[in-house]
This record gives sequence, structure tokens and C-alpha cells, in this order.
Amino acid sequence: MSELAGKRALVTGASRGIGAAIALALTEKGADVAVTYERSAERAAEVVRAIETKGGRSFAIQADSADAAAVKRSIEAAIDGLGGLDILVNNAGIARGGPLADMSLADIDAILDVNVRSVVLASQAAIPHLKEGGRIISIGSCLAERVASPGMTVYSMSKSALLAFTRGLARELGSRGITVNLVHPGPTDTDMNPATGDQAEGQRATIALGHYGKPEDVAAAVAFLASPAAGQITGTGIVVDGGVNA
Ligand code: NDP
Repeated sequence: MSELAGKRALVTGASRGIGAAIALALTEKGADVAVTYERSAERAAEVVRAIETKGGRSFAIQADSADAAAVKRSIEAAIDGLGGLDILVNNAGIARGGPLADMSLADIDAILDVNVRSVVLASQAAIPHLKEGGRIISIGSCLAERVASPGMTVYSMSKSALLAFTRGLARELGSRGITVNLVHPGPTDTDMNPATGDQAEGQRATIALGHYGKPEDVAAAVAFLASPAAGQITGTGIVVDGGVNA
């Protein structure tokens, strides 16, 4: 399929997990895709090779999403390397849990910097370069709407912040034909939330379908929102959580 032929995308945090699956899904639709990572240079290189094997153009950019200057530089590097930008996917995220009373300031700041501020700054840097048909898609969480258990208060807040950000930015960019949306994963089998991890049984019990999602499930929703078929969808989100929030 080549619905995204000629489109240029940047996916943040795409050395593994959901971001890597999104990068590959966009490639399969014909886009050229740059990826960012924080530490996993070799895994990012593997993603680049996988994209190239599928016939896409790709390169990896080391950029810590917690670092405002690095976020801005990563957008510039993507635009330089790809020759422009049509699709920004704000995927990089971190999860740090525990009772709020016990959380360190460093952990609170890290969650807000990576999960919220980097989305704001990357979008801000991308906006002048996006054209009619452009896309900003951020990865939220089913916890943005409903928090059914303790210990994820700040993380959940960071994801719900993206709801108002997405709605507001959709209003700002609508007149330019640019859409802004969210995809909210539920429990998805990645390093962040392994389906075999200590917390997995409790989460599985909340999933209507009874099993964890795969990164590809989330990627399919992102690829759809990036496609021309989703051109009338903006300021909203698709929940890919197996029915956790049902
Ligand atoms: P993983 O921890 O498996 O992968 C995280 C990816 O983000 C890696 O590529 C990592 O790069 C990158 N990353 C992490 N921190 C930074 C940073 N400071 N700067 C740049 N890149 C960074 O996470 P998932 O794939 O599971 O999560 C992807 C998104 O989905 C996140 O926003 C997460 O909050 C959200 N989500 C995930 C759910 C799940 O169950 N898995 C559920 C709901 C939402 P590196 O390899 O270099 O460290």
C-alpha cells in the first residue's frame, strides 16, 4: 500500500516497543521515517535497517526527550534529512509509578518533561514546517481517561494533559488542514509493560479481550490516523486498549 508515498515522518522513541512498530507501519504505507532514541543506538540502527529493507528511507537521531534543546534539534535534523516533515508522531514516553507521597521530585520532573513537555516542544518546532494534510499524532494511554488502580497518578496526569493539548492544537491548525490526534494504548507487551511482568496478571484481568495488545495494534491506529482516509478526524483519540476502559 502506498497511501503515504512521498510523506516524511518522524517518530520519537522508536528504537523499540510501540515506536518501532509505528515506524515500520508508516514505512509499509510508503512513508520515509526518521526515528529518535535516547540510549539504544544499536536497536535504533536495527529499526533503520528494517525500514530500509522494506524500501523506505530512514535514519536515527539520538535525542533525549527530557532535553528541550535536543527535542528542537531532533525536529531540525529530521527536516534536514528527510527534506521536510509531514507526520510527527510523539511516542517517546516513560512510566514511573508508586504512591505520590513517595515519589521523588526527579521522577515527577522526568515524567512531565518526557511525556508532556517534549510533546509540546516537538509539536511547536514542527508546526511551521507542516503543510496541508500534515499530521501530529501523540501516544497517550487508556489511563488518560480512567485510572482504575493506585500508583500511576502522575503518569496518568501526564497522559491526560495530552487530551487538552490535542484539542487545543487541533483548533489552532485546523484552518491549515493539519490534523492533531491521540492514540491511547492499553496494556501493550513492550519493555515498559511486559505481558510476563509482575504487574501483568492484574492488568490482564481488566482487559475485556483478556489479553495484552501488541505494539502493532497501536501502530495500526497511528497509521490509519496518518492516512488520507482519516483527514476529517481531528482533536480526538482512538483507544486501543482491548476494552480496559469499556
Ligand atoms: P518502551 O519503554 O518499551 O520504549 C520506549 C521508547 O521510548 C524507546 O525507544 C526509548 O528509547 C524511548 N525513550 C524513552 N525515554 C526517552 C527519552 N527521554 N528520550 C527519547 N526517547 C526516549 O515503551 P512503550 O513502547 O511501551 O511505550 C511507548 C509509548 O506508549 C509511551 O508514550 C508510553 O507511555 C505509551 N503507553 C504504553 C503502554 C504499554 O502498556 N506499553 C500503555 C499505554 C501507553 P531508548 O531505547 O533509547 O531508551
